[in-house]
Amino acid sequence: MNQVQSSLQQLDAVVVGAGFAGLYQLHTLREQGLSVRAFEAGSGVGGTWYWNRYPGARVDSQSYIYQYWFSDDLLKEWNWSERFPAREETERYLNFVADKFDLREDIQFNTRVTAATYDESTQRWTVTTDKGESFSAQFLVMGTGGLSTPMVPPFPGHDTFKGLTLHTAHWPKEGVDLKGKRVGVIGTGATGVQVIQTIADQVKHLTVFQRTANYTIPMLNPKYDDAMRASLRAQYPALKERVQNTFAGFDYDFGDKNFHDLTPEERQRTMQTLWDDGSLNFWIGGFKEVFFDEAINEEISKFVRQRIRERIKDPKVADKLVPTDHGFGTRRVPLETLYYEAFNRDNVLLVDTKATPIERMTEKGIQTSAGEHELDILIFATGFDAGTGTLTRIDIRGRDGLLLKDAWADGIRTTMGLQVHGYPNMFMTMAPFSPAAAFCNVPTCLQQQVDWITDCIQFVRSQGLKSIEATAEAEAKWVAHHDELANLTLIPKTKSWYMGTNVKGKPPRLLAYVGGANVYRQACDDVKARGYEGFTTA
Ligand code: NAP
Repeated sequence: MNQVQSSLQQLDAVVVGAGFAGLYQLHTLREQGLSVRAFEAGSGVGGTWYWNRYPGARVDSQSYIYQYWFSDDLLKEWNWSERFPAREETERYLNFVADKFDLREDIQFNTRVTAATYDESTQRWTVTTDKGESFSAQFLVMGTGGLSTPMVPPFPGHDTFKGLTLHTAHWPKEGVDLKGKRVGVIGTGATGVQVIQTIADQVKHLTVFQRTANYTIPMLNPKYDDAMRASLRAQYPALKERVQNTFAGFDYDFGDKNFHDLTPEERQRTMQTLWDDGSLNFWIGGFKEVFFDEAINEEISKFVRQRIRERIKDPKVADKLVPTDHGFGTRRVPLETLYYEAFNRDNVLLVDTKATPIERMTEKGIQTSAGEHELDILIFATGFDAGTGTLTRIDIRGRDGLLLKDAWADGIRTTMGLQVHGYPNMFMTMAPFSPAAAFCNVPTCLQQQVDWITDCIQFVRSQGLKSIEATAEAEAKWVAHHDELANLTLIPKTKSWYMGTNVKGKPPRLLAYVGGANVYRQACDDVKARGYEGFTTA
């Protein structure tokens, strides 16, 4: 160990982030007897569920599969109150987990990791924080989330606006009083939908700036009583198994029937049944052809367009809210509750920013090509620099000092989203080219990735080795496989954060692996079973 390294606090592993992945990673590595410290920029645990405090934030996965499986006690003790819990409940759950497993003692809060540098001579990482501290660790695990770097469009005149501006992912802890205010919301993705439907009847006036209309599915969200909880609890062992063996890590999966095998009436009936489930089942539990076949996708899209249109009073407003420029499911489908009814209200105005683009922000509000909209509060529900955004904003330097941002400048490359060649002993969760990056019930895929990383670290240590690194060949093979599958789908034809097209200058590339969470898990298991094939150790 060189002098600089030996003067630093020595750890076996550093975990960055205390969300779903970070908490579990901290727990599993500690269970193995490693000295671990987690760093978290927020003042509490929860990641996404800590930061995104906007009104109406709620999970789109059913609570009974949006949880950890590793502890029977935890599964017995925690009681979900409804099918799709609000943000506060999921945050409470993650706090409960942190307390139950005494995780806080090894989490340094209010601390952002700013840099991580690999030292080839010691085969260790030096991790630096915004508090000016540095640590030396053999292993580095990034639990930094896929949607954790918020994006605010650089409208001219931003600073001239005299009202309050907020991004949904940086919502103040103390809340914001919207009553009696003229509020604007920019963005109608999963976040914007939840904000709009929640605040429409609270504010004096709501102006929604929509660039692209989205397909949505109405959420069915029953409350759970003890009997329901007991019934679900009895299914937990089967559900734990089930979610690992489906395309998207949910309990539902694509049906066996092909769209073309059904009569038009049978198709309608099947779609209606899936629709009535009030979940993402309609999307990733229905027909897999929705992702591959343009004609079938159009039939399914038509069904959804009709469901949307019939709820909107004004046909001109309906024309704007019904998506026509992309196929259903080629971007994230939000669940909604009375979203379209919000636009039937007299105090809600929909502004189509494709027809009348936003030109600038003014002292009083937003200036579009058609005029000025006066606002007291402007909410940016404008999304994130997904997948790569957070990782490339940390000064991560691998072998030969190569900055990760530069390594990805000519194109993202990862080995199964778990490692990058040139960055030994660094592991990632929810990173590009894994299903966790977008096409997964996130806890299913994060637990699978954390388990794989834990086993891999255990392997390195048990063999008396110091490092493990994906080979360039294995990486190239995975990237080619990822791209091949991506290009078989309709997803690259649609602009969205899935493709990185929401970030100026980001080369379009499907971020998430579309081969299926089940197929991906098997591929990861195979790598392990073959003694970490495609990785070199030293
Ligand atoms: P998003 O899906 O990227 O949506 C951002 C919205 O902002 C889009 O409507 C986008 O329009 C709009 N926008 C961005 N820049 C704009 C500009 N310059 N002018 C006008 N409009 C602009 O982000 P998000 O809604 O925060 O959701 C991100 C992801 O987080 C979701 O897809 C989901 O995976 C996750 N999420 C999950 C939940 C849940 O589980 N319930 C809730 C919220 C978020 P365009 O579409 O035209 O680009």
